[in-house]
Amino acid sequence: MERGRKLRIGFPRALFYYSYFPFWQGFFNRLGMEVVVSPPTTKGILDDGTREAEAEACIPVKLYHGHVLALKDKVDLLFIPRLVRIDRRSTFCPKFLGLPDMVRASLPDLPPILDLKVDERTSPGEWWPTCRAIGELLGIDSFLRLWSAYREGKQHQKAYEKLLYKGYLPEEALAALRGEEVEVPPRIKENLNLAVLGYPYQVYDGYISWDIIGKLRKMPINLWTMEMVPPSKLYRFCKHLPKQPFWHYSVLVLGAAYYYQQQGVDGVIHVAAFACGPDAMVNKIMEIDLSQGSNPTPFMSLSVDEQTGDAGVATRLEAFVDMLLQRRRKG
Ligand code: SF4
Repeated sequence: MERGRKLRIGFPRALFYYSYFPFWQGFFNRLGMEVVVSPPTTKGILDDGTREAEAEACIPVKLYHGHVLALKDKVDLLFIPRLVRIDRRSTFCPKFLGLPDMVRASLPDLPPILDLKVDERTSPGEWWPTCRAIGELLGIDSFLRLWSAYREGKQHQKAYEKLLYKGYLPEEALAALRGEEVEVPPRIKENLNLAVLGYPYQVYDGYISWDIIGKLRKMPINLWTMEMVPPSKLYRFCKHLPKQPFWHYSVLVLGAAYYYQQQGVDGVIHVAAFACGPDAMVNKIMEIDLSQGSNPTPFMSLSVDEQTGDAGVATRLEAFVDMLLQRRRKG
């Protein structure tokens, strides 16, 4: 590394990027490192990931491999933690647990990987033990330096979540935190209220979701997503289930479906991840539960894979929104 140049750490724009990037960016920046994020997904990135990752992997994991490849020659270090738990209530899916191993096994010649285990069951949501472990790995022996980086990360994450709860989407919130001007569409009383739910790395990746969010924003609807509600509330909305799903994002998606059903939204769209076992179960439970009761909530499941076409997605969204508008007109 050239003298005086900052250490560059790579952060793939996939999987937990949409949930926790602001924390890690604040933390690493304060430690004097430059955080490099891979570019938004392109066909090339997805093709690279699909070619190199295990054939049985779900699309989001294949895509993660593509983003690692997009970064590998631009950074000194890759941040690929092994996420196990960030609270006491749920565990990340096994693909998250084995992520650094999968990446190493599939992609040769990578820079060193910062791959420590994140298991926050004793200090939920705090990340401090993880930060201390990173400090040890990077040879940072100043407690104050590490603590100040940790505080910086917490502040960034808090500011980010505040924007999400106000209705910003993740990339909009990140742009606003960078000081850019962001216009968030206002809620309009006459519009349909539509909840678009799914794993954030599926919903917000414009390429693999065929820009569902962008397409819906051109229609007369108020858009609601899982990230607009604090996770503690979403967990409460799953309490009535005889057995809660234990995968982290699955329980949040289901909680969001029950929450928005109670709020009386006009419809729910589940953007399901293709080749994902947990999501197939979430999809079925959602479909059954939203159809129950005296006033069922219209539901559509969109499963998006490598073969899905843009026109097909647009047609299905338009048909669903048309059906909701007719339903509203009939009262
Ligand atoms: S929850 Fe599903 S989509 Fe997400 S990483 Fe696991 S298998 Fe893949």
